[in-house]
Amino acid sequence: GAVRKGPSRPPAYLTFEDIGGQEQAKRELVEALDFLVQRERIAKLGIRPLKGILLTGPPGTGKTLLAKAAAKHTNSAFVAASGSEFVEMYVGVGAGRIRDIFRQARTLAAKQKRDSAIIFIDEIDAIGGKRDGSQNKEYDQTLNQLLTEMDGIQGDESVRVLIIAATNRKELLDNALTRPGRFDRHIQVDMPDRHGREHILRLHARNKPLAEEVSLDKVAEETFGFSGAQLESVMNEAAIYAMREESEVLRPAHLAQAIDKVMMGERMDRETTS
Ligand code: ATP
Repeated sequence: GAVRKGPSRPPAYLTFEDIGGQEQAKRELVEALDFLVQRERIAKLGIRPLKGILLTGPPGTGKTLLAKAAAKHTNSAFVAASGSEFVEMYVGVGAGRIRDIFRQARTLAAKQKRDSAIIFIDEIDAIGGKRDGSQNKEYDQTLNQLLTEMDGIQGDESVRVLIIAATNRKELLDNALTRPGRFDRHIQVDMPDRHGREHILRLHARNKPLAEEVSLDKVAEETFGFSGAQLESVMNEAAIYAMREESEVLRPAHLAQAIDKVMMGERMDRETTS
């Protein structure tokens, strides 16, 4: 059959156009980022600088992609860490790492001659879970250091720092983190709907030759409940099936097999963790 081919390579820099679906999250994020872009006007009006944005939603829905696109959109330096990296046995290590990452973000921005930096912290609940008095001291120190760093952010520094954090479970976060002046912007990142799924599939098909009979619209319909990460897997697995059959194009059967495989993998994950 004829081959439909997209551009041969995904773009080197991630932008909002490279994220499928999530229209509302993107809109809300761009609106919030305006605070970084329009910093002079914001300062003139005496509006307090935006310091933290919290992205909430299930795994694999594109929270990391959104943070990266935010950096691109605002021409900011980008530094990323995962909350679980800060959880250490020794007192003071986690707090020291928080200090380092803020320093690193400012240094990188200066080196890249940018006037803003975005720090992305995935799994923020690992450091910012509710304090009930039973946790160890280390954990408290790490969270306290993060709060101190955030409180120390000024609107008029040569490098403006913005923290974007992600969590699957917003309800577990300590109230100290979500107070005004900290993570006071919350953006929900949901599982994609059918339209969103088709968009995501299209993006991940950009570098793959599809047989003419393939209908991504139909694939989107058949992948109800799949996350963006799972849809990426579907496209990748389909390409692997095509390769095994020495086919130069991805055919509908390859996609059907890939959907089954990803669905099966998901079920096995659930069974082994529950
Ligand atoms: P986690 O909570 O598990 O860290 P996440 O929400 O940060 O997940 P990402 O790391 O952004 O998810 O997504 C994982 C991968 O899944 C991406 O690298 C991308 O390939 C794919 N993906 C997820 N969502 C989308 C989307 N909306 N558009 C395009 N690709 C997506």
